[in-house]
Amino acid sequence: MRAHMRAASESIGCTCGCCGAPALVAFSGKRHYMELLNAGRRGKSKISKVDIGVQPANLIPPGWPFPASTQVIVCCSTSGASPMTAAERLAPYQDLASKLADVPWPRAELPRCKRKEAAM
Ligand SMILES: [Zn+2]
Repeated sequence: MRAHMRAASESIGCTCGCCGAPALVAFSGKRHYMELLNAGRRGKSKISKVDIGVQPANLIPPGWPFPASTQVIVCCSTSGASPMTAAERLAPYQDLASKLADVPWPRAELPRCKRKEAAM
């Protein structure tokens, strides 16, 4: 993820390293996100539950490479073995599709380094 953001940032002459960050990152399944959140945590300090949907800014995995502008969204598992209806399983992905639809593409503004511009 870091290498991708660095490459995207470098492609627009970014000097801050964050301008190539994704608008959002989605996880398909709580478990994958929980594993990241609990990396390095032990015992009672482990986080035992996350909600489906946009994650709060204070609940970000240690070493998370993206800036606060990158939304983290957790969707439910796509496994048919998880006990939920098809509509329940589909809803978080419909929300995700809606959020993605709100990200203009191609971007309305040409990508450029915000820090580099502020220094000019
Ligand atoms: Zn930048």
